[in-house]
Amino acid sequence: MLATMLYAPGDVRCEEVAEPKILKPTDAIIKLAASCVCGSDLWPFRGANEVTAPLAMGHEYCGVVVEVGSAVKTVKPGQFVVGSFCLSDNTCPHCKFGFQSSCEQREFMTGAQAPFARVPLADGTLVATPDMPADDLIPSLLAVSDVLGTGWYAADAAGVQEGSTAVVVGDGAVGLMGVLSAKQMGATRIIAMSRHKTRQDLALEFGATDIISERGDEGVKRIKELTNGVGADSVLECVGTQESMSQAVNAARPGGKIGFVGVPHGVTFDGQNLFFQQKSLLGGPAPVRRYLPYLMELVLDRKINPGKVFDLQIPLADVAEGYKAMDERRAIKALLRV
Ligand SMILES: [Zn+2]
Repeated sequence: MLATMLYAPGDVRCEEVAEPKILKPTDAIIKLAASCVCGSDLWPFRGANEVTAPLAMGHEYCGVVVEVGSAVKTVKPGQFVVGSFCLSDNTCPHCKFGFQSSCEQREFMTGAQAPFARVPLADGTLVATPDMPADDLIPSLLAVSDVLGTGWYAADAAGVQEGSTAVVVGDGAVGLMGVLSAKQMGATRIIAMSRHKTRQDLALEFGATDIISERGDEGVKRIKELTNGVGADSVLECVGTQESMSQAVNAARPGGKIGFVGVPHGVTFDGQNLFFQQKSLLGGPAPVRRYLPYLMELVLDRKINPGKVFDLQIPLADVAEGYKAMDERRAIKALLRV
């Protein structure tokens, strides 16, 4: 089959590889309904992470189970499933607390930018739909696997609730999903920080009430102006740079919460500054498995349409163009037809 391999920064290829096989009794093999490129795939693509061996890319997935290992009990061949990009047993203490992305057996999904993929820890990772979903729901179900689950976690970690004022730092796919999530959780004011017209438009469609194009201290100043000098209850940090993190911390009011889901690259904190700011910080890889059943239901009931975040659809064979388009910010998120 054709699959996506990253050889070096800027060098991503679609090439012939062996089809995945069951390696452990807890594995499942799925036939993907579609795949996509993640913003976090751009870190190694841009050379921010070292690439020492060719990487089998892709960690967002949904599709039909074709085979399961002998120990798998909760899913069976023929079922449509969505899984989290973090693989978990869903039984250890951390999983039981709802932090499946810190599972004692945690692994990260790989190799999903391909027609077939192996999903380890299938019982603890996959959730089946009651029926075969309609084709037009596939992009939204695929989004649940990571980008929506991560935006949802950012909003949850930032304590968004009915009546909250939320700020979303970052207008990538996760930031836009953060806007959608904050809206679903009842935030009445959602301030999206974005400089790009198409992303601003999508943010407004997902529920943003205000757009701020300023960044850094100027951006924080604008947020203070919009919140009577107080700052926001909740801030979703969806980038992972020093500038975006400082902006997020400074935009929250004292007692406010920051949910940070952009993988930090070169971010440091000044302890004393944090001490006097009196703000809560919770972040990390999203425990998507905790949210999967609920978010899948919202999609299947057509209450949300996160699939709109895919503004480029290309065949898997053209995956390199998907990476390039996202890297150059010509596309928000690329869906791969497999
Ligand atoms: Zn676990």
